[in-house]
Amino acid sequence: MAARKPGLIALFDVDGTLTAPRKVVTPDMLKFMQELRKVVTVGVVGGSDLVKISEQLGNSVINDYDYVFAENGLVAYKDGKLIGTQSLKSYLGEEKLKEFINFTLHYIADLDIPIKRGTFIEFRSGMLNVSPIGRNCNQEERDEFEKYDKVLNIRPKMVSVLREKFAHLNLTFSIGGQISFDVFPQGWDKTYCLRYVDDFHEIHFFGDKTYKGGNDHEIYESERTMGHTVTSPEDTVKQCTALFLSKQV
Ligand SMILES: [Mg+2]
Repeated sequence: MAARKPGLIALFDVDGTLTAPRKVVTPDMLKFMQELRKVVTVGVVGGSDLVKISEQLGNSVINDYDYVFAENGLVAYKDGKLIGTQSLKSYLGEEKLKEFINFTLHYIADLDIPIKRGTFIEFRSGMLNVSPIGRNCNQEERDEFEKYDKVLNIRPKMVSVLREKFAHLNLTFSIGGQISFDVFPQGWDKTYCLRYVDDFHEIHFFGDKTYKGGNDHEIYESERTMGHTVTSPEDTVKQCTALFLSKQV
């Protein structure tokens, strides 16, 4: 490892960057990343939890990379060891969390939309996912809600009410998918993991969703990183080879 470039780290998004969307990593990519690790320090930063990341990158993932950041870094591993955890529950505290959940459920109860199903709030370790129709609707019902929402702005209206009511909690609201929106503390995007790589003066980040609204956008745009947009795992290999493995560099 003596040949490694000091002070430089390469961070990689998982889905769409190291693997095809929702697919398992290829043996070639695993081999490539191990080659890359001989030259630079390597970390992965995924939005999913460690279970999902392990399904995509393999069970030995925490030992295969220098850093593994699950849930954008809310769960952080270095050299195979857990170095930090954070959760919505411990960050907000039970009182504020309850106040938010109670208000949101009341709001949904008073919402007059054509159909409602179940699971209106899904509690995840780093965020709440709120769905006015309920997450366990079927695909047809999802499609209908999406159309209805586009015309009547159910989600944008709800978000603006919550944003104002809970301004003091400094939350970010992110409308995504067809039927729900995510709620999480400001800064709990992928830039969260950067607190663990303070020792590095040159931080490269590779991601596929670097556009505004994409889950790689904030870390890609961050002043602390040099962002690289990739279109596929093959493109990741190509760009990394040019940057770190080519003899001319
Ligand atoms: Mg991605």
